[in-house]
Amino acid sequence: MTEATSQKSTCGGCNKEFLIIPQEQGFYQKKGLPTPENCPDCRRKRRLSLRNERKLYKRKCDKCQKDVISTYSPESKYIIYCQECYWAHLG
Ligand SMILES: [Zn+2]
Ligand SMILES: [Zn+2]
Repeated sequence: MTEATSQKSTCGGCNKEFLIIPQEQGFYQKKGLPTPENCPDCRRKRRLSLRNERKLYKRKCDKCQKDVISTYSPESKYIIYCQECYWAHLG
């Protein structure tokens, strides 16, 4: 009996080496899918980012500090205005 070995692969996203265990290889083979090019971490991140595409963040208006809901994350440098400030800003 030949023992299946984990397949070593380099992630196309972060260049980290990762293993595809025999069970996983079998899974892809059975489904007729190519083996993944990304490590589990990157795959998970990509899945999350896809799912979070329309994620809404709780932020503060950059002018009056009122709570606002925005599609821009708090880390983004984008200036966020609440409705009032937005319209005031437009003049
Ligand atoms: Zn990766
Ligand atoms: Zn405001």
